[in-house]
Amino acid sequence: MVACPECESDLDIAEDEIDEGEIVSCPECGTDFEVITVSPIELKPVEEDYEEEDEDEENEDGDLS
Ligand SMILES: [Zn+2]
Repeated sequence: MVACPECESDLDIAEDEIDEGEIVSCPECGTDFEVITVSPIELKPVEEDYEEEDEDEENEDGDLS
């Protein structure tokens, strides 16, 4: 069993069914965690303010004139 680091409720994830880098959400407090390591399981809260959207407006295609 894996407990939520925030509220300590059961996250209901099987240790042998998750991979490093996966994101799991706590059904109780709603916090998202990234799986850092799987043995033992180590979870890191996912930061919510990482909005970096500056490589979406590059129009280098079709401008041949
Ligand atoms: Zn929680």
